[in-house]
Amino acid sequence: MALLPVPVALQHILESATTLPPERVGLLHARSRTLAEPVTSKVDNPPFDASAMDGYALRAEDIASVPATLTVIGESGAGRPFSGTLGQGEAVRIFTGGRLPDGADAIVIQENVTALDQTVTVLENAARGANIRTKGQDFVKGERLVEPGRILTARDVLISASAGYGELAVVRKPVVAILSTGDELVTPGLPLGEGQISGSNAYGLSGVIEAAGAEARFLGIARDSLASLQEFIAASDGADILVTSGGASVGDHDLVRPALESAGAKLDFYKIAMRPGKPLFFGTRTPDQKRQYCLGLPGNPVSAMICARVFLVPLIGRLLGRETPFDELEAVLSQSVPANGPREHYMRGLLDLSVTPPRVAPFKNQGSGLVKSLQRADCLVVVPADAPALAAGTTVKVLRLDI
Ligand code: AMP
Ligand code: MG
Repeated sequence: MALLPVPVALQHILESATTLPPERVGLLHARSRTLAEPVTSKVDNPPFDASAMDGYALRAEDIASVPATLTVIGESGAGRPFSGTLGQGEAVRIFTGGRLPDGADAIVIQENVTALDQTVTVLENAARGANIRTKGQDFVKGERLVEPGRILTARDVLISASAGYGELAVVRKPVVAILSTGDELVTPGLPLGEGQISGSNAYGLSGVIEAAGAEARFLGIARDSLASLQEFIAASDGADILVTSGGASVGDHDLVRPALESAGAKLDFYKIAMRPGKPLFFGTRTPDQKRQYCLGLPGNPVSAMICARVFLVPLIGRLLGRETPFDELEAVLSQSVPANGPREHYMRGLLDLSVTPPRVAPFKNQGSGLVKSLQRADCLVVVPADAPALAAGTTVKVLRLDI
């Protein structure tokens, strides 16, 4: 079977996925969620003409020549507006955030007056509109402030609150079930017996999934038997995505694919022209009428994490309806890279964003068994399939590893 190019596989995954339905969450839970419906202001901001300073509200024409002494007829504090109308020769004591009294058109700051009990003498004149925040000067009712697909920042939440929203429509979080497979795997922290290793993948993948905006649910470690795999797969029902690691090639013990197929999965492709990570599959099944995407990652921890970055993160992004499900950048190689074979190579390396354009240095040793080089890397350099040797200075595509 011919190897499938990474971009083709990725496009296939993204095209098969549709955005999940929205749900409403209170503002305190909205940050880092993905907005599902636009935030359109319900109010003008500020909602009324308000004072920007502590001082006196008055008519600018009354203080055209200074000093000018005015009668203080009341007070307008934040949340405690003055209810009357200000006339000629009158002033109202006002504080920051207080509503501008009817009849007033300027505010003189308190530093520029001499105040007595019932009067105030203004020492410096002020133009009409001075120190007033006019109604709607920030944004107006009906104005679109935040667009769907946006990953909400604290600032987005703040403006939504100002705009009259108590809750927001965000895309439901995809639930991603993780299944580790392999007779050799032991729960991390427990002693290793002969021939055993720590099952690390679920813990790395869980972080990638959470950081991508989904909820991770670790099912456990399935044994290399059809019965065990089937049991764990059944426990994933209800999850939007089932991610497996290991058992994805064609060895005698690689039973994940048959187990998934027996659980109703239609698997769409199987071998990707990618290094690391050739054995990988994707498909869907619909337990209880609910669609579940199944992604079979390689068992090798480096491959599993890189394939998760390349395929799983964009898939989650698409389910969330995010603007840029696959975000990448360009950088310039700081050293040469040898000619590549027929599989797109995702090289671990270090990115220097302090220069323009950014520079990237792939590590010399790209052994897929080296978890430490994955841990030290902060990016993946994408070297296209069959690329000739690339000289230092060549522009390449880079995926950040910032999780
Ligand atoms: P497999 O695809 O099952 O043949 O696994 C490939 C390699 O990855 C083997 O060396 C496995 O021991 C290893 N491996 C599989 N699953 C995990 C895991 N969850 N954590 C760490 N290593 C794993
Ligand atoms: Mg295995």
